[in-house]
Amino acid sequence: DKTAFKVGLIGADIQLSKSPALHMREGAAHGLDYSYELVDVSARKLPLSALPDLLDELEARGFAGTNITHPFKQAVIAHLHELSDDARMLGAVNTVVFRDGRRIGHNTDWYGFYESFVRGLPDAKRDRALLVGAGGAGVAVAHAALKLDIMRLDIFDRDLPRAERLASELNDRFGEGRAFAVGDPAASLPFADGLIHATPMGMPAHPGMPVSAALIEQRHWVADIVYMPLVTELLATAAKKGCRTLPGGGMTVFQAVGAFRLFCGREPDAARMTAHFTEL
Ligand code: NAD
Repeated sequence: DKTAFKVGLIGADIQLSKSPALHMREGAAHGLDYSYELVDVSARKLPLSALPDLLDELEARGFAGTNITHPFKQAVIAHLHELSDDARMLGAVNTVVFRDGRRIGHNTDWYGFYESFVRGLPDAKRDRALLVGAGGAGVAVAHAALKLDIMRLDIFDRDLPRAERLASELNDRFGEGRAFAVGDPAASLPFADGLIHATPMGMPAHPGMPVSAALIEQRHWVADIVYMPLVTELLATAAKKGCRTLPGGGMTVFQAVGAFRLFCGREPDAARMTAHFTEL
């Protein structure tokens, strides 16, 4: 008598995603016949323009909703009826709920970083921090950083106008003087309490470190959002210097916690999902 509960993930090159396992195990623990299908445009050899057809397809098949990842988090907005306040503010959607013929876009990425930080670096000093990376994830993480009461957030991106745009949006949202674009990590880290990394550096396809190791000091806390691998060169270097570190897995788990809650209206067990994730 269990009704099938179907959700998906639309993205490109997502075959290694841990989201299906994470969601389905939590769904099963709630007694649901919960399936989570990867809808990978790369695997299906589809052009990026297939996005609206894929949304139609999932909706027609009775899906409760779908996660959205790279490269569709912005593009999907044109195909939705409504946005949550967070999704509108960030201009990006990672979770779409299908309800009564309407598509509602949400963003649980910022919440994912927020919750991970609260749990993993609860008493971190927050007067000033450097964020490296102002792309899709950087925008969500920056929002979380200011919500976490990091008083001053410096932002470095090798695309400087992108860092400037993000700093200006944050100052509009949170008040002047909270965010600054910097042209060089060395202009910030010697004065900062911590470092947040949100570029792809440290993944197998992008080896290396986003800042020079010489800039990292023992007093810094270091948070990475890269989660493949969980321990990046940056985190390994920081740990060796005695820094407190926060790996990217926590953000992954808590964005899924937020999405699960939106999809099925049940409260997931975050501790259980964290434990599942570490086994995956
Ligand atoms: P993106 O391509 O949208 O943005 C990356 C940004 O980093 C760009 O603005 C780019 O100019 C900048 N950049 C790249 N290399 C740089 C360097 N060496 N120095 C300075 N700036 C540099 O990518 P994204 O979607 O923001 O994702 C970034 C990373 O975050 C990826 O590795 C992704 O897997 C990870 N991520 C993790 C989670 C999670 O839940 N843990 C969620 C989303 C993204």
